Order: sequence, then structure tokens, then C-alpha cells
Amino acid sequence: MALIVQKFGGSSVADAEGVKRVAKRVVDTQAAGNEVVVVVSAMGDSTDELLDLAAQVSTTSTPREMDMLLSAGERISMALLAMAIHELGASAQSFTGSQAGMITDAIHGKARIIAVSPHRIKTSIEKGDVAIVAGFQGMSRDSNDITTLGRGGSDTTAVALAAALGADVCEIYTDVDGIYTADPRVVPTARKIAEISSEEMLEMAASGAKILHLRCVEYARRFGVPLHVRSSFSQLEGTWVLPSPDDKIKIQAGDPLEQPIISGVAHDRSEAKVTVVGVPDIPGKAAEIFGIVAGAHSNIDMIVQNVSTHGSGHTDISFTLPIVEGADALEALRAAQSRVGYEGIEYDEQIGKLSLIGAGMRSNPGVSYRFFKALSDAGVNIDMISTSEIRISVVTNAELLDTAVRAVHAAFELDGEALATVYAGTGR
Ligand code: ADP
Ligand code: ASP
Ligand code: MG
Repeated sequence: MALIVQKFGGSSVADAEGVKRVAKRVVDTQAAGNEVVVVVSAMGDSTDELLDLAAQVSTTSTPREMDMLLSAGERISMALLAMAIHELGASAQSFTGSQAGMITDAIHGKARIIAVSPHRIKTSIEKGDVAIVAGFQGMSRDSNDITTLGRGGSDTTAVALAAALGADVCEIYTDVDGIYTADPRVVPTARKIAEISSEEMLEMAASGAKILHLRCVEYARRFGVPLHVRSSFSQLEGTWVLPSPDDKIKIQAGDPLEQPIISGVAHDRSEAKVTVVGVPDIPGKAAEIFGIVAGAHSNIDMIVQNVSTHGSGHTDISFTLPIVEGADALEALRAAQSRVGYEGIEYDEQIGKLSLIGAGMRSNPGVSYRFFKALSDAGVNIDMISTSEIRISVVTNAELLDTAVRAVHAAFELDGEALATVYAGTGR
């Protein structure tokens, strides 16, 4: 008998029909002789709708109440799914994050898991129930308040439970058939990847491929949880994310012996660019600026410092950060303008980030040239560049991002023969 954790994303439980379809799939998995723990997301786009509602009643930030509000979305789907499973003649019990023993720190909106004590889940599956857990939420032992893990965090709930329960596999059910060489909503000819190393998946997720929450990939790698990303709308085998850095991709007959140079292209529209103009070009100013931004709890991604114009004694520093953190960072920087001595700030949300990812890049010198040539042939201007050992990222104008993704995908011959199926979801 295997223990399987199955996580169903919002598009899989978007309406009553979806909830019933998922219930059938869960019951079938149990009937095949497995113990099943299910993690659910809020229905459809309901988390976004709750955020829209909150914005209509308040413009100030009330993180504790926001977590109370958003955690309700997952509670709706967990209870409905339990009812639908009962309807099929099986037994199920739903649990909130705190009932399931998901203990987090007290940072609302981006809480981190510090312990998982799933006693009630164990008892529930031991007596033959399907245990259903509300994704993306937990409780802080310090404040006794409900917390959420951040957008997309139900994936991380599922992996954390799988690790704590010693599950054989964590299945992430979504609205596409697996992990593709690019987002199939932008590149319909993207190819499904059968197996991907966790190292590459980490870079993809960190570069904005929202198919998996970044922290879920980190967690799975750390605890050796095998992840299988697949569709809840088909029975097809999806993509396996190999947990351990030492795991080798299984070579099948006919596969090339060396690993492909590139695993995929990721894009991200969720960042904004801040340029601090006219910063005194003396030691310590960059540290001062990034200290201020860190104090506002912003996560900085790419950074560029311009060469100071000869003799001016001033330079510009640009960086990107999540749009949702932009307002707080700007406020903190503006408050410190006279202390830092910069001349002004520019802020741009109309940017997009494109990243090319592949472990084979390490030993292939021509990759950068091919990448920049593809962008130039497509008429895409580049604003910022950053690289890691297995990734190249650029910031472009938001309007040209899709064109850029398709151009780079084609230049690396990643296109497949068939069109990828996107079963549901609005891509919001
Ligand atoms: P869920 O609600 O199931 O958590 P998400 O919307 O968070 O689903 O993630 C699934 C979506 O991720 C897909 O519909 C697709 O548009 C997007 N996506 C981005 N990059 C990729 C990729 N490389 N492969 C597959 N899907 C991707
Ligand atoms: N419902 C939450 C969100 O939309 C969590 C999740 O779906 O993973 O971000
Ligand atoms: Mg998701």
C-alpha cells in the first residue's frame, strides 16, 4: 500500500463539476489500495477575487486580517470536496492548516513553515478516511494567529505534508499535462518534459514559471520527496521532478546520451524596476540603499549599477523587485532621500523578465550568443541582464515579452510537434 499526497490547484476545483471530478479521482486512487491525503487550493480565481474585495473596503495594509480572509478560500474547497467524496460512498474529513499541524512563523502573507505535526491526518488515514487539508495556510505558535504561505503556496503545503508523513509520492494536479519547455499559454508548441532535475526546476520556479511554487521545489529537494506534476483533466503521465541532486535523469532507449543543453524558458510579469538616479559614487551608498529596501521586507532580484559619467561623481542604481512590494520599498527610499543624497527615483511596472534555463549551459560556450542573437532578430531591446551557472535572464519591455519568449524558445529548437493542451484556468 502506498501513501500518496495529491494536491489539486484552483482550476481543478473551479466549480461543483470540478469538485466532483476531483472527488472521483481521489476515491479511485484510494480504491486502488492507497492511503490518500489531499491538499486543495481555493476554487478558481477566488483568492484573487478575495483580494479585489479587500481592496474595495480598505487601502491600508492589515496583514493579519488579510490572512484570515484568504485562508477562507481553501476552507471552502476542502469542505466541498469532503462532501463530494461522501457522496461517492467513501469517507473523508477536512482539516484547516492549523488542524493539520502546519506550524509557521508569524510573518503574515509569506509565513515560513517551522514544524509539521500531522497527528490528526495520520489518525484519519489510519481509520480509512481520505484526509483533506486546506492548502497555503498554517498557524503561528507565537501569535496563535492564522498565517498564509504566499501566493501559490498550496504546492508547498502538499510537499511539507508528504515529507512529514513519509509519503511515497506527492502528485501536483493542475490544468496542463506537466512541466513544459515554456508556459504553454504563451508558447503553444512547448514540449512536455518527462523528467527534470530539481536544480533546473528551482531555477525555472525562481524565474517565474508558476507551475510550481519555488519553496515547494526547495522543500522536495531537501527532504527527497518525489514530485509528479500532472493534469487533473487527463490520465496522462506528467513530469517527474527528481528530488535529489544526485539523482540521475533516467536515460531511455533513443535518448541522446548527453543531457540537453537547455531545459526551458521561463517568464515573469510580476516584477517592477526601480532606478535610484544620481547616487553619490562613494563607497557604502549601495549598501545603504539595499539596507533600506531590505528594511521594507522587499526581495530584490536583478541589480544594475551604471558606470558613473566621468567626473560627475554620481551614478544610477537600478533593481527589480515584486510589484506587490514596490509601494513599501518606494516609501522607505523616499523617506531616506536626503540621508542617502540621491537625486530622484524612477519606477516602472511595465517590464517583463525572460530566463533561459539549462544545466548543460555550463559546458556550452555558444549559448549566450544564440540567446542574444534571437532577441536581437526579434527586435527585442534588453534593459538588464543577470546570469547564474545554469541560467541567463534579461529584463525587457512588458509588451515584447511574449514575442521574446517565443523567439528564444524557437532559437533553441525547443518546439514540439503537437500543440500543448491547456485544460482550464484563466492564467490569472
Ligand atoms: P494551479 O492553480 O493548479 O496551482 P497554476 O496556475 O499555479 O495552477 O500553475 C499552472 C500554470 O502554470 C499553467 O496553466 C501554465 O500557464 C503555467 N506555467 C508557467 N510555466 C509553465 C511551464 N514551464 N510548464 C507548464 N505550465 C507552466
Ligand atoms: N489560493 C492560493 C493562491 O491563489 C494558494 C494556491 O493556490 O496555491 O495563491
Ligand atoms: Mg499554483
